[in-house]
Amino acid sequence: MHDFSFHENTLHAEKVSLRNLADEHGTPLFVYSANTIRDHYRRLDEALAPLDHEIAFAVKANSNIHILSLLGEQGASFDIVSGGELFRVVKAGGDPAKCTFAGVGKTREEIEYALELGIHAFNVESEAELQFINQVASEMGKIAPVSIRVNPNVDAKTHKYISTGKAENKFGIDFERIPEVYENAENLSNILLKGLQMHIGSQLTSHQPFLDAVTKVAPLAAELKQTHGIEFFSIGGGIGIVYDPALESGSEDWWDSFEPDQRPLTAAAYAEAIVPILKPLGLKILLEPGRFIVGNAGVMLTRCLYEKKGSAKTFKIVDAGMNDLIRPALYQGYHEIVPVQQSGPRSTIKTDVVGPVCETGDFFCQDRSLPDFQEGELLALMSAGAYGAVMGSTYNSRPLPAEILVDGAEAKVIRKRQTFEDLIAQEL
Ligand SMILES: *Cc1c(COP(=O)(O)O)cnc(C)c1O
Repeated sequence: MHDFSFHENTLHAEKVSLRNLADEHGTPLFVYSANTIRDHYRRLDEALAPLDHEIAFAVKANSNIHILSLLGEQGASFDIVSGGELFRVVKAGGDPAKCTFAGVGKTREEIEYALELGIHAFNVESEAELQFINQVASEMGKIAPVSIRVNPNVDAKTHKYISTGKAENKFGIDFERIPEVYENAENLSNILLKGLQMHIGSQLTSHQPFLDAVTKVAPLAAELKQTHGIEFFSIGGGIGIVYDPALESGSEDWWDSFEPDQRPLTAAAYAEAIVPILKPLGLKILLEPGRFIVGNAGVMLTRCLYEKKGSAKTFKIVDAGMNDLIRPALYQGYHEIVPVQQSGPRSTIKTDVVGPVCETGDFFCQDRSLPDFQEGELLALMSAGAYGAVMGSTYNSRPLPAEILVDGAEAKVIRKRQTFEDLIAQEL
């Protein structure tokens, strides 16, 4: 569900024409819908109402401080994975006491910074890290609140690069070792055991792997509540979204077009599966959604520069590249590609949409049937709100694009387009 739709043949974000935004701010351009972000947050919050719960937005999905501030206003907490993300949350007006700090490689500087600011908890991912956090906390005369990340060894059935809950993944501590790790942690004078955490992967499109993981780990959480007095169980993020065809996702026939057992994962279906297992624990339940909140709430606009007919393929070359949106190149991510201006019936063409970057991996789709758009036409790559702008780089010395946040009829620049001067500013 999202607020991108056609009005008088032009694609809009809420009440704002994407064509006007591109004319005014140039391309490539990221555009987000504030209403969609609020709506997704609210749906999840409502679905989890039967639980004592907290929604910690996974900052890495979209870390623009204006988006963080919008979510903070809704009551969100924050799941961070670096000192830089903690800095962003603070700049966005967020409370460090609502931040949980995950990640397998926290540095001394990051641990000190987080202890100084007083975060909610560290999600500890190894025994070596636990020892180190204890040492740093003791040097600072502080007590470090921690939860330990369990690797439940379940298959999330998602792309292997975004699967995190199998024993062969680098994340968390083996399920079987957890009780002993908590026992040992009791002897660390500057560690306070507050919770248990897991996160099995991203872009999960069925509730089943969540159910498997929660079913396996809930008894452990209950045990740790008894033995070590933990207060919360964080079940991670990972709720998937519909990338194809996202544009129709507001309509009712779209929903009916799926077989009942293949319908996209909704907040309600997710909650219905897991709430009955989690409720009896009597623990606070933390959730760490990223993509579900912001994925369908953003698009990337790009213009077609050239068409090139090769002997094997027709290429449509656009002015955005893999440096702006790397998901297709990095893990075969799919983005629906839509001309912003609807014209009468068009022929379709099988084409590769590619960027200007000097890499063969610089494509947004290959051999896809699309409405035959022309040079100069404006296109929207749908569902680019999560893991889009945040993964941008300046590879090929391409300045980072601008970002716009639309709220109703208002559009605000929330990141300026970089200039050439910005590109070299640190190189003096
Ligand atoms: C990336 C990440 C998330 C968010 O994943 P989504 O698929 O965007 O919901 C949550 N928790 C942890 C620990 C993560 O690394």
